[in-house]
Amino acid sequence: MSEKVSDCIFCKIAAGEIPSDKVYEDERVLAFRDINPQAPTHILVIPKEHIDSAADITAENAPLAARCLEIIADVAKAEGLSGGFRVITNVGEDGGQSVRHLHFHLLGGVKMNEGLL
Ligand code: 5GP
Ligand code: ZN
Repeated sequence: MSEKVSDCIFCKIAAGEIPSDKVYEDERVLAFRDINPQAPTHILVIPKEHIDSAADITAENAPLAARCLEIIADVAKAEGLSGGFRVITNVGEDGGQSVRHLHFHLLGGVKMNEGLL
């Protein structure tokens, strides 16, 4: 079940094979700072187990996705984002997903514009 996809950069980050600036880690979930931040706080929260995207969430792996959201709430608090934050997950080509391993962007530290959402 916990399959590692060999050419997946986030599987490698989850396995510690590629270094990352970690802000939270447990057996199932990792949170680390985005290498190209789009906001003062920009953290990626991923399941360590490879899931392609939010389009691949099933009854079986939904608890893991839910755990990611739980961690997002904890990390946002730890980062002092008391005024709020934004959570984004891109899916597929049209969704602008560049890394095919489920990840949630946690963005905060600035008032978000109301452009797209
Ligand atoms: P996507 O475009 O798939 O929604 O988001 C992928 C995100 O991963 C981008 O914001 C990009 O900056 C980030 N990213 C890509 N490669 C790395 C990496 O090696 N390390 C870190 N920390 N972030 C990465
Ligand atoms: Zn992966």
